[in-house]
Amino acid sequence: MKNNLQHIDSEIFDIIELEKQRQQDYITLIASENYTSSAVLAAQSSCLTNKYAEGYPDRRYYGGCVEVDKIEKLSQERLKKLFGSDHANVQPHSGTNANIAAYFALCNSGDTILGMNLNEGGHLTHGSKVNISGKWLNSHTYGVDSNGLINYDRVQEIAKEAKPKVIVCGASAYPRQIDFSRFRQIADSVGAYLIADIAHIAGLIVANLHQNPVQYAHIVTSTTHKTLRGPRGGIIMCVKDLAKQIDGAVFPGTQGGPLMHIIAAKAVAFKEALQQDFVRYQTDVKNNAQTLANALKSRGLKLVSDGTDNHLMLIDLTQSKIGNNLTGKEVEDLLFKANIVVNKNTVPNERRSPFITSGLRVGTPAATTRGLQKNDFITIADMIADIIEYGQSSVQKVHAKVLDLCKKYPL
Ligand SMILES: *Cc1c(COP(=O)(O)O)cnc(C)c1O
Repeated sequence: MKNNLQHIDSEIFDIIELEKQRQQDYITLIASENYTSSAVLAAQSSCLTNKYAEGYPDRRYYGGCVEVDKIEKLSQERLKKLFGSDHANVQPHSGTNANIAAYFALCNSGDTILGMNLNEGGHLTHGSKVNISGKWLNSHTYGVDSNGLINYDRVQEIAKEAKPKVIVCGASAYPRQIDFSRFRQIADSVGAYLIADIAHIAGLIVANLHQNPVQYAHIVTSTTHKTLRGPRGGIIMCVKDLAKQIDGAVFPGTQGGPLMHIIAAKAVAFKEALQQDFVRYQTDVKNNAQTLANALKSRGLKLVSDGTDNHLMLIDLTQSKIGNNLTGKEVEDLLFKANIVVNKNTVPNERRSPFITSGLRVGTPAATTRGLQKNDFITIADMIADIIEYGQSSVQKVHAKVLDLCKKYPL
Protein backbone atom coordinates (compact mmCIF):
# COMPACT_ATOMS: atom_id res chain seq x y z
CA MET A 1 0.00 0.00 0.00
CA LYS A 2 2.79 2.43 0.99
CA ASN A 3 4.15 3.47 -2.38
CA ASN A 4 0.75 3.34 -3.98
CA LEU A 5 0.11 6.99 -3.28
CA GLN A 6 3.19 8.04 -5.19
CA HIS A 7 2.15 5.71 -7.98
CA ILE A 8 -1.51 6.73 -8.19
CA ASP A 9 -1.27 10.44 -7.36
CA SER A 10 2.23 11.82 -7.60
CA GLU A 11 0.90 15.39 -7.33
CA ILE A 12 -0.46 14.88 -3.82
CA PHE A 13 2.45 12.63 -2.85
CA ASP A 14 4.98 15.28 -3.86
CA ILE A 15 3.20 18.01 -1.94
CA ILE A 16 3.10 15.82 1.19
CA GLU A 17 6.84 15.25 0.79
CA LEU A 18 7.37 19.03 0.55
CA GLU A 19 5.29 19.55 3.68
CA LYS A 20 7.39 16.91 5.49
CA GLN A 21 10.48 18.88 4.55
CA ARG A 22 8.86 22.15 5.63
CA GLN A 23 8.03 20.67 9.03
CA GLN A 24 11.65 19.50 9.29
CA ASP A 25 13.14 22.87 8.30
CA TYR A 26 11.00 25.23 10.39
CA ILE A 27 10.78 25.76 14.16
CA THR A 28 7.10 25.62 15.07
CA LEU A 29 6.14 27.92 17.92
CA ILE A 30 2.44 27.93 17.11
CA ALA A 31 0.90 27.27 20.52
CA SER A 32 -1.88 25.06 19.15
CA GLU A 33 0.31 22.74 17.06
CA ASN A 34 2.19 19.58 17.95
CA TYR A 35 3.71 16.46 16.36
CA THR A 36 1.82 13.20 16.89
CA SER A 37 3.60 9.90 17.43
CA SER A 38 3.97 7.41 14.59
CA ALA A 39 1.53 5.14 16.48
CA VAL A 40 -1.16 7.84 16.34
CA LEU A 41 -0.44 8.39 12.63
CA ALA A 42 -0.68 4.66 11.95
CA ALA A 43 -4.11 4.32 13.58
CA GLN A 44 -5.28 7.44 11.78
CA SER A 45 -4.34 6.12 8.34
CA SER A 46 -5.82 2.64 8.92
CA CYS A 47 -8.70 0.76 7.23
CA LEU A 48 -11.04 2.01 9.97
CA THR A 49 -11.77 4.95 7.70
CA ASN A 50 -13.85 2.54 5.59
CA LYS A 51 -16.44 1.87 8.28
CA TYR A 52 -19.76 3.61 8.85
CA ALA A 53 -20.82 3.44 12.52
CA GLU A 54 -23.60 5.97 13.14
CA GLY A 55 -24.78 5.67 16.73
CA TYR A 56 -22.78 4.48 19.75
CA PRO A 57 -21.18 1.14 20.75
CA ASP A 58 -23.82 -1.64 20.90
CA ARG A 59 -26.41 0.86 19.56
CA ARG A 60 -25.46 1.33 15.91
CA TYR A 61 -27.50 2.05 12.83
CA TYR A 62 -25.14 -0.09 10.72
CA GLY A 63 -24.11 -3.74 10.79
CA GLY A 64 -20.52 -4.93 10.98
CA CYS A 65 -19.56 -2.72 13.92
CA VAL A 66 -18.15 -5.47 16.18
CA GLU A 67 -14.54 -4.34 15.94
CA VAL A 68 -15.12 -0.59 15.85
CA ASP A 69 -17.34 -0.94 18.94
CA LYS A 70 -14.34 -2.30 20.83
CA ILE A 71 -12.26 0.64 19.64
CA GLU A 72 -14.75 3.31 20.67
CA LYS A 73 -15.27 1.69 24.10
CA LEU A 74 -11.51 1.62 24.70
CA SER A 75 -11.23 5.23 23.62
CA GLN A 76 -14.06 6.29 25.98
CA GLU A 77 -12.66 4.34 28.95
CA ARG A 78 -9.16 5.72 28.52
CA LEU A 79 -10.45 9.27 28.24
CA LYS A 80 -12.55 8.91 31.41
CA LYS A 81 -9.53 7.55 33.26
CA LEU A 82 -7.28 10.33 31.96
CA PHE A 83 -9.40 13.15 33.41
CA GLY A 84 -11.48 11.30 36.02
CA SER A 85 -14.77 12.06 34.31
CA ASP A 86 -18.12 10.24 34.59
CA HIS A 87 -18.94 10.26 30.90
CA ALA A 88 -16.95 10.65 27.70
CA ASN A 89 -17.92 11.21 24.08
CA VAL A 90 -15.05 10.73 21.62
CA GLN A 91 -16.97 11.41 18.42
CA PRO A 92 -16.70 15.20 17.85
CA HIS A 93 -14.78 15.80 14.63
CA SER A 94 -13.07 18.88 16.06
CA GLY A 95 -12.98 21.25 19.03
CA THR A 96 -15.52 23.42 17.24
CA ASN A 97 -17.90 20.49 16.78
CA ALA A 98 -17.51 19.61 20.46
CA ASN A 99 -18.53 23.13 21.51
CA ILE A 100 -21.45 23.32 19.08
CA ALA A 101 -22.74 19.99 20.40
CA ALA A 102 -22.34 21.18 24.00
CA TYR A 103 -24.49 24.26 23.26
CA PHE A 104 -26.99 22.14 21.36
CA ALA A 105 -27.30 19.88 24.40
CA LEU A 106 -28.11 22.76 26.76
CA CYS A 107 -29.63 25.59 24.74
CA ASN A 108 -32.50 26.55 22.54
CA SER A 109 -32.16 29.11 19.77
CA GLY A 110 -31.77 32.61 21.24
CA ASP A 111 -30.64 31.50 24.72
CA THR A 112 -27.97 33.61 26.38
CA ILE A 113 -24.37 32.46 26.77
CA LEU A 114 -21.41 34.25 28.31
CA GLY A 115 -17.92 33.52 26.99
CA MET A 116 -14.50 35.10 26.71
CA ASN A 117 -14.04 37.79 24.06
CA LEU A 118 -12.21 36.56 20.95
CA ASN A 119 -9.98 39.67 20.96
CA GLU A 120 -8.85 39.04 24.51
CA GLY A 121 -8.10 35.32 24.38
CA GLY A 122 -11.39 33.48 23.80
CA HIS A 123 -12.24 31.22 20.87
CA LEU A 124 -14.56 31.90 17.91
CA THR A 125 -16.94 29.27 19.26
CA HIS A 126 -17.35 31.09 22.59
CA GLY A 127 -19.96 33.44 21.16
CA SER A 128 -18.19 35.40 18.43
CA LYS A 129 -20.70 37.15 16.16
CA VAL A 130 -19.18 35.56 13.05
CA ASN A 131 -19.62 32.03 14.46
CA ILE A 132 -22.81 29.99 14.82
CA SER A 133 -22.39 30.34 18.61
CA GLY A 134 -22.91 34.10 18.28
CA LYS A 135 -25.62 33.90 15.62
CA TRP A 136 -27.79 31.08 16.94
CA LEU A 137 -27.37 32.19 20.57
CA ASN A 138 -27.49 35.56 22.30
CA SER A 139 -23.85 35.95 23.31
CA HIS A 140 -22.28 38.21 25.91
CA THR A 141 -18.57 38.41 26.62
CA TYR A 142 -16.04 39.04 29.35
CA GLY A 143 -12.41 39.96 28.75
CA VAL A 144 -9.20 40.73 30.60
CA ASP A 145 -8.10 43.74 32.64
CA SER A 146 -5.39 46.14 31.50
CA ASN A 147 -2.91 43.79 33.24
CA GLY A 148 -4.04 40.98 30.95
CA LEU A 149 -5.77 38.96 33.67
CA ILE A 150 -9.36 37.76 33.98
CA ASN A 151 -11.04 39.80 36.68
CA TYR A 152 -13.42 37.31 38.30
CA ASP A 153 -15.38 40.01 40.17
CA ARG A 154 -16.04 41.66 36.83
CA VAL A 155 -17.13 38.31 35.30
CA GLN A 156 -19.52 37.95 38.25
CA GLU A 157 -21.01 41.41 37.56
CA ILE A 158 -21.46 40.69 33.85
CA ALA A 159 -23.06 37.32 34.63
CA LYS A 160 -25.48 39.01 37.03
CA GLU A 161 -26.52 41.45 34.30
CA ALA A 162 -26.65 39.03 31.37
CA LYS A 163 -28.25 36.09 33.25
CA PRO A 164 -26.76 33.52 30.88
CA LYS A 165 -27.96 29.95 30.61
CA VAL A 166 -24.37 28.87 29.96
CA ILE A 167 -21.01 30.31 30.97
CA VAL A 168 -18.04 29.20 28.88
CA CYS A 169 -14.53 29.38 30.30
CA GLY A 170 -11.27 28.37 28.69
CA ALA A 171 -9.24 30.19 26.06
CA SER A 172 -7.04 30.08 22.99
CA ALA A 173 -4.65 32.82 24.00
CA TYR A 174 -4.54 33.19 27.77
CA PRO A 175 -1.13 32.62 29.38
CA ARG A 176 -2.32 32.21 32.98
CA GLN A 177 -4.13 29.64 35.13
CA ILE A 178 -7.90 29.62 34.83
CA ASP A 179 -9.78 29.36 38.12
CA PHE A 180 -12.48 26.83 37.24
CA SER A 181 -13.77 26.60 40.79
CA ARG A 182 -14.39 30.36 40.83
CA PHE A 183 -16.16 30.10 37.48
CA ARG A 184 -18.40 27.40 38.95
CA GLN A 185 -19.26 29.69 41.89
CA ILE A 186 -20.20 32.41 39.43
CA ALA A 187 -22.26 29.99 37.33
CA ASP A 188 -24.08 28.71 40.44
CA SER A 189 -24.82 32.25 41.62
CA VAL A 190 -26.78 32.96 38.43
CA GLY A 191 -28.15 29.45 37.85
CA ALA A 192 -26.04 28.84 34.73
CA TYR A 193 -24.37 25.72 33.38
CA LEU A 194 -20.59 25.85 33.18
CA ILE A 195 -18.72 24.61 30.10
CA ALA A 196 -14.93 24.45 30.42
CA ASP A 197 -13.12 24.35 27.06
CA ILE A 198 -9.64 22.97 27.71
CA ALA A 199 -8.54 22.70 24.05
CA HIS A 200 -5.16 24.31 24.73
CA ILE A 201 -4.30 23.09 28.21
CA ALA A 202 -5.64 19.50 28.19
CA GLY A 203 -2.12 18.02 28.29
CA LEU A 204 -1.07 20.23 31.20
CA ILE A 205 -4.19 19.17 33.12
CA VAL A 206 -3.41 15.48 32.59
CA ALA A 207 0.04 16.10 34.07
CA ASN A 208 -1.43 17.96 37.07
CA LEU A 209 0.19 21.23 36.00
CA HIS A 210 -3.14 23.02 35.77
CA GLN A 211 -6.39 22.77 37.76
CA ASN A 212 -8.67 20.05 36.35
CA PRO A 213 -12.18 21.42 35.56
CA VAL A 214 -13.89 18.00 35.52
CA GLN A 215 -15.04 18.36 39.14
CA TYR A 216 -16.34 21.93 38.57
CA ALA A 217 -17.80 22.12 35.06
CA HIS A 218 -21.01 20.43 33.95
CA ILE A 219 -19.41 19.89 30.56
CA VAL A 220 -15.75 19.83 29.53
CA THR A 221 -14.82 20.09 25.86
CA SER A 222 -11.41 19.85 24.21
CA THR A 223 -9.42 19.26 21.09
CA THR A 224 -7.11 16.24 21.02
CA HIS A 225 -4.37 17.67 18.80
CA LYS A 226 -2.88 20.54 20.83
CA THR A 227 -0.97 19.86 24.08
CA LEU A 228 -2.71 16.45 24.24
CA ARG A 229 -0.67 15.48 21.14
CA GLY A 230 -3.26 13.23 19.53
CA PRO A 231 -4.95 13.26 16.12
CA ARG A 232 -6.91 16.30 14.91
CA GLY A 233 -10.27 15.99 16.69
CA GLY A 234 -12.57 16.88 19.58
CA ILE A 235 -13.93 15.30 22.78
CA ILE A 236 -16.63 16.01 25.36
CA MET A 237 -16.80 14.93 28.98
CA CYS A 238 -19.74 15.59 31.27
CA VAL A 239 -21.56 14.76 34.48
CA LYS A 240 -23.79 11.65 34.43
CA ASP A 241 -27.01 13.67 34.33
CA LEU A 242 -26.08 15.22 30.99
CA ALA A 243 -24.66 12.09 29.31
CA LYS A 244 -27.78 11.32 27.24
CA GLN A 245 -28.19 14.95 26.18
CA ILE A 246 -24.55 15.23 25.12
CA ASP A 247 -24.55 11.98 23.16
CA GLY A 248 -27.74 12.98 21.38
CA ALA A 249 -26.38 16.44 20.64
CA VAL A 250 -23.28 14.99 18.96
CA PHE A 251 -25.20 12.31 17.03
CA PRO A 252 -27.77 12.76 15.56
CA GLY A 253 -27.84 16.41 16.73
CA THR A 254 -24.88 17.92 14.94
CA GLN A 255 -22.91 15.13 13.27
CA GLY A 256 -23.44 12.01 11.19
CA GLY A 257 -21.11 9.03 11.10
CA PRO A 258 -18.13 9.06 13.47
CA LEU A 259 -14.54 8.96 12.16
CA MET A 260 -13.54 5.56 13.50
CA HIS A 261 -9.91 5.87 12.36
CA ILE A 262 -9.64 9.13 14.31
CA ILE A 263 -11.38 7.60 17.33
CA ALA A 264 -8.77 4.80 17.26
CA ALA A 265 -5.98 7.38 16.98
CA LYS A 266 -7.50 9.25 19.95
CA ALA A 267 -7.42 5.98 21.94
CA VAL A 268 -3.72 5.60 21.13
CA ALA A 269 -3.02 9.19 22.18
CA PHE A 270 -4.94 8.68 25.47
CA LYS A 271 -2.86 5.58 26.17
CA GLU A 272 0.31 7.58 25.55
CA ALA A 273 -1.01 10.36 27.81
CA LEU A 274 -1.57 7.84 30.62
CA GLN A 275 2.19 7.04 30.72
CA GLN A 276 4.66 8.62 33.11
CA ASP A 277 6.65 9.92 30.13
CA PHE A 278 3.79 12.21 29.24
CA VAL A 279 3.98 13.96 32.62
CA ARG A 280 7.66 14.56 31.99
CA TYR A 281 6.88 15.96 28.54
CA GLN A 282 4.28 18.38 29.90
CA THR A 283 6.64 19.49 32.66
CA ASP A 284 9.23 20.24 29.99
CA VAL A 285 6.64 22.16 27.94
CA LYS A 286 5.87 24.37 30.93
CA ASN A 287 9.50 24.83 32.02
CA ASN A 288 10.52 25.67 28.45
CA ALA A 289 7.75 28.28 28.31
CA GLN A 290 9.14 29.84 31.52
CA THR A 291 12.63 29.90 30.05
CA LEU A 292 11.44 31.42 26.78
CA ALA A 293 9.31 34.03 28.57
CA ASN A 294 12.14 35.14 30.86
CA ALA A 295 14.62 35.34 27.99
CA LEU A 296 12.21 37.40 25.86
CA LYS A 297 11.60 39.76 28.77
CA SER A 298 15.32 40.19 29.36
CA ARG A 299 15.56 41.49 25.77
CA GLY A 300 12.99 44.22 26.47
CA LEU A 301 9.90 42.49 25.15
CA LYS A 302 6.67 42.97 27.08
CA LEU A 303 4.53 39.90 27.70
CA VAL A 304 0.81 40.19 28.36
CA SER A 305 0.34 39.58 32.12
CA ASP A 306 4.16 39.74 32.36
CA GLY A 307 4.71 36.03 31.86
CA THR A 308 3.09 32.62 31.66
CA ASP A 309 1.77 29.78 33.83
CA ASN A 310 1.26 27.41 30.92
CA HIS A 311 2.62 26.53 27.47
CA LEU A 312 2.14 29.89 25.74
CA MET A 313 2.86 33.60 26.01
CA LEU A 314 1.73 36.74 24.23
CA ILE A 315 4.22 39.36 23.15
CA ASP A 316 2.74 42.87 23.21
CA LEU A 317 4.73 44.87 20.64
CA THR A 318 3.11 48.18 21.60
CA GLN A 319 4.51 47.94 25.13
CA SER A 320 7.95 46.54 24.26
CA LYS A 321 11.24 48.41 24.40
CA ILE A 322 12.28 47.09 20.98
CA GLY A 323 10.51 46.96 17.64
CA ASN A 324 7.94 49.51 18.68
CA ASN A 325 6.67 50.41 15.25
CA LEU A 326 6.31 46.83 14.01
CA THR A 327 2.90 45.12 13.83
CA GLY A 328 2.16 41.50 14.68
CA LYS A 329 1.79 40.71 11.00
CA GLU A 330 5.14 42.28 10.10
CA VAL A 331 6.99 40.31 12.77
CA GLU A 332 5.16 37.08 11.84
CA ASP A 333 6.29 37.56 8.22
CA LEU A 334 9.90 38.39 9.16
CA LEU A 335 10.12 35.37 11.47
CA PHE A 336 8.69 33.16 8.75
CA LYS A 337 11.46 34.29 6.40
CA ALA A 338 13.89 33.10 9.05
CA ASN A 339 11.99 29.74 9.28
CA ILE A 340 10.37 30.40 12.64
CA VAL A 341 6.57 29.97 12.63
CA VAL A 342 4.44 31.92 15.11
CA ASN A 343 1.05 33.57 14.75
CA LYS A 344 0.14 37.20 15.06
CA ASN A 345 -2.37 37.78 17.84
CA THR A 346 -4.49 40.57 19.23
CA VAL A 347 -3.45 42.01 22.61
CA PRO A 348 -5.61 43.63 25.34
CA ASN A 349 -6.83 47.07 24.18
CA GLU A 350 -5.95 46.12 20.59
CA ARG A 351 -6.14 49.07 18.17
CA ARG A 352 -5.38 47.14 14.99
CA SER A 353 -7.48 44.71 12.94
CA PRO A 354 -7.20 40.94 13.54
CA PHE A 355 -5.37 40.71 10.19
CA ILE A 356 -2.61 43.06 11.40
CA THR A 357 -2.60 42.99 15.25
CA SER A 358 -0.04 44.30 17.75
CA GLY A 359 1.05 41.01 19.23
CA LEU A 360 2.40 37.52 18.75
CA ARG A 361 1.39 34.23 20.33
CA VAL A 362 4.30 31.91 21.05
CA GLY A 363 4.11 28.38 22.48
CA THR A 364 6.44 25.51 23.34
CA PRO A 365 4.49 22.20 22.87
CA ALA A 366 5.68 21.33 19.34
CA ALA A 367 9.31 22.34 19.76
CA THR A 368 9.44 20.46 23.07
CA THR A 369 8.11 17.29 21.40
CA ARG A 370 10.88 17.74 18.87
CA GLY A 371 13.38 17.57 21.70
CA LEU A 372 14.57 21.16 22.00
CA GLN A 373 16.12 21.88 25.41
CA LYS A 374 16.30 24.80 27.79
CA ASN A 375 19.35 26.33 26.08
CA ASP A 376 17.69 26.07 22.69
CA PHE A 377 14.76 28.10 23.96
CA ILE A 378 17.14 30.81 25.16
CA THR A 379 18.65 30.81 21.67
CA ILE A 380 15.17 31.03 20.14
CA ALA A 381 14.30 33.99 22.38
CA ASP A 382 17.39 35.79 21.12
CA MET A 383 16.53 34.98 17.52
CA ILE A 384 12.99 36.37 17.95
CA ALA A 385 14.33 39.46 19.71
CA ASP A 386 16.98 40.02 17.02
CA ILE A 387 14.31 39.90 14.32
CA ILE A 388 12.13 42.35 16.25
CA GLU A 389 15.01 44.68 17.10
CA TYR A 390 16.96 44.66 13.82
CA GLY A 391 14.24 43.68 11.31
CA GLN A 392 15.06 42.53 7.78
CA SER A 393 18.82 42.97 8.25
CA SER A 394 18.90 40.13 10.79
CA VAL A 395 16.84 37.61 8.79
CA GLN A 396 19.68 35.91 6.92
CA LYS A 397 21.77 35.33 10.02
CA VAL A 398 18.86 34.00 12.07
CA HIS A 399 17.77 31.78 9.17
CA ALA A 400 21.14 30.03 9.10
CA LYS A 401 21.00 29.44 12.86
CA VAL A 402 17.47 28.02 12.64
CA LEU A 403 18.50 25.53 9.97
CA ASP A 404 21.37 24.34 12.20
CA LEU A 405 18.94 23.88 15.09
CA CYS A 406 16.49 21.95 12.87
CA LYS A 407 19.25 19.62 11.71
CA LYS A 408 20.16 18.91 15.31
CA TYR A 409 16.58 17.77 16.04
CA PRO A 410 15.26 15.66 13.16
CA LEU A 411 11.54 14.87 13.22
C1 LIG B 1 -8.44 25.32 19.05
C2 LIG B 1 -9.61 25.63 19.90
C3 LIG B 1 -10.90 25.18 19.56
C4 LIG B 1 -11.27 24.61 18.22
O1 LIG B 1 -10.67 23.54 17.76
P1 LIG B 1 -10.79 23.11 16.21
O2 LIG B 1 -10.42 21.67 16.28
O3 LIG B 1 -9.86 23.98 15.46
O4 LIG B 1 -12.20 23.29 15.78
C5 LIG B 1 -11.93 25.40 20.47
N1 LIG B 1 -11.70 26.04 21.63
C6 LIG B 1 -10.50 26.52 21.96
C7 LIG B 1 -10.34 27.23 23.26
C8 LIG B 1 -9.41 26.35 21.10
O5 LIG B 1 -8.22 26.86 21.44
